[in-house]
Amino acid sequence: MNASLVKLGKPRVAVHKFSSCDGCQLAFLNLGEDLLALAERVELVHFAEAGPLDPDTEVDIAFVEGSVSTPQDLERIQHIRQHSRMLIAIGACATSGGIQALRNNTDGTDWVAQIYAHPEAIASLAHSTPISSHVKVDFELWGCPVSGPQIVAVVNSLLLGVAPHDNVDKVCTECKRRNLTCVMVSHGVACMGPVTRAGCGALCPSLGRDCYGCYGPAENANTDALAAQFGHLGLTPQDIVRRFQSINSQAPVFLAAAEKMRQRDE
Ligand code: SF4
Ligand code: SF4
Ligand code: SF4
Repeated sequence: MNASLVKLGKPRVAVHKFSSCDGCQLAFLNLGEDLLALAERVELVHFAEAGPLDPDTEVDIAFVEGSVSTPQDLERIQHIRQHSRMLIAIGACATSGGIQALRNNTDGTDWVAQIYAHPEAIASLAHSTPISSHVKVDFELWGCPVSGPQIVAVVNSLLLGVAPHDNVDKVCTECKRRNLTCVMVSHGVACMGPVTRAGCGALCPSLGRDCYGCYGPAENANTDALAAQFGHLGLTPQDIVRRFQSINSQAPVFLAAAEKMRQRDE
């Protein structure tokens, strides 16, 4: 990533929404005082949920939430890329297609017909895809939702002209740093932490729950070993497929792990 793309001074920033639940935009808004401090250092020119509206303007940094899921999304992402010096995809929808990408594995038209009274009014693409499938993405922040402190860290890095830190460690490392009790070892629950990228501060294990992989695959994720461990804990092959086919179902590492498990089950 070329962090020097951002000029010194007050960079112009936009936050765009694609197909998503708005939760990652809320992570911005939930920054509270930190957001006000951020607003002093950047010029927030477009952020519909916060007020400013100017979606077509040129910006230094465009944050993009959501997946490409409709014909309009396809056109809009090209336009935004052309008008942004740096584009940062935020959240699982933008980085892997999100929960709505579960339809990629099936015939989505059947679902639409079953759910909507007027399915002909629904204009969605057969697949939900990440932003990087369509345009160059300069940096990705994973998570469902992303964490506010991670957003602040990225903006701070860019303001200093350095590349943001890409945390590819595993959630387990955050558990260890926080001295948390391992829920998989102590309670025998199937935790995705050993293959999931860090960044949330091991939020779920800190509350006594298993990680369900919302930050997507970590670097060098050993999904074979984790699938075997899940089997020892009593999960069926179908259960294991579901663990990998959740919020980040289309992340290649999780997709491959699920496919391998399906083949073993045949
Ligand atoms: S990644 Fe999760 S929280 Fe963010 S927009 Fe998508 S569904 Fe919502
Ligand atoms: S609770 Fe989960 S994330 Fe934490 S150490 Fe155990 S397996 Fe890893
Ligand atoms: S522990 Fe796992 S599921 Fe929970 S917030 Fe972190 S990455 Fe997401």
